[in-house]
Amino acid sequence: MAKDRRIPLVTLLGFQIRFDLTWLILVALVVWSLSAGYFPASYADLPTSTYVWMGIVGAIGLFASIVLHEVAHSWVGRRLGMQIHGITLFVFGGAAELADEPKSARTEFLMAAAGPLASILLAILFQLLAMALEGIQGPTPISGVLHYLAGINLILAVFNLLPAFPLDGGRILRAALWAWGGSMVWATRVAAAIGGIIGLGLIVLGIVSVIGGNVVGGMWSFLIGLFIRSAASASQQQMVARHMLQDISVARLMVREPVTVAPDATVARAVELFLANNLKFLPVVAGGRALGHVGLKEVKALPSAERMARPIREVMTPLAPDSSISPRADAAAALAQMQRTGLTRLLVVEDGRLAGVICLKDLLDQLTLRSELDLNPEPARPR
Ligand SMILES: [Zn+2]
Repeated sequence: MAKDRRIPLVTLLGFQIRFDLTWLILVALVVWSLSAGYFPASYADLPTSTYVWMGIVGAIGLFASIVLHEVAHSWVGRRLGMQIHGITLFVFGGAAELADEPKSARTEFLMAAAGPLASILLAILFQLLAMALEGIQGPTPISGVLHYLAGINLILAVFNLLPAFPLDGGRILRAALWAWGGSMVWATRVAAAIGGIIGLGLIVLGIVSVIGGNVVGGMWSFLIGLFIRSAASASQQQMVARHMLQDISVARLMVREPVTVAPDATVARAVELFLANNLKFLPVVAGGRALGHVGLKEVKALPSAERMARPIREVMTPLAPDSSISPRADAAAALAQMQRTGLTRLLVVEDGRLAGVICLKDLLDQLTLRSELDLNPEPARPR
């Protein structure tokens, strides 16, 4: 199970914004490169302390701009009925977390275009502010930071408009192919392939630049190329998996009548059941009603001396929307929920009653079976 390294930052327009730890490295790098490189080169003869605060303000402005870009995607997505769980900022910027794929080409297009549009508007705003400040002979360090923010927002817009799926430009391309060809699977396959080629191009460009002496620019190009290639193939695989599982109900893949434990039983009883049935997860059920679950994690968290005599009720993880799913939901939704929460098992609950348990392993087995047997729904070609 992947550890959640994302740390909540703020909530904006109802979206929780988290940052990945890799993000802190980028913040430090940006402050340093602005105050030691960019600002001294652009505005000579200012005191060092001025360059340092210009770097700090510039970095804050850059990251606020990235957040606004992502919020624009999420805001439009939510207005169009997409479920958005939050926004994560990581080393290459940000990502809105979609619960599933957009429902139509139009939704995809509007959502994808919103981010670059926000960046372009921010670029214009910062440029106008900088020009207004220069017009009244305002302080150079402030107009310098504003000019930088105008330029960096323009770069953000242009970079994200590269037609390399899953960047925004690639999503716009996918929406266009989808509207034209009628199949999202086919459109994703083509957009991801183009993304892979552009990624490869950036990697080659990076190597050529490094050899040619542009080490920093070349490294960036190389890293961004690698990132685009891995993101393109990951989103393609995820889409294929979700597509293959979308017509299968959770009820068909769940374990029916799983071994359960009563809330009044002791932890010793749960351990007995783990060992007897080769399990590490038990739903907690009383009178057919699902109350929660208890697993190795909950048992191991107890001090070993008092472990065995404690009632399950006190140590279980109570039932929550994140850890349960309806038997009528499709298996793709279960997979997406597991990817989002990091859980490998969900309780299948209907009207409060336990219907079964669905496991990540069973979903993956089903995927493997379907691809081995070539039951992969053949992507439709353009009409
Ligand atoms: Zn974007």
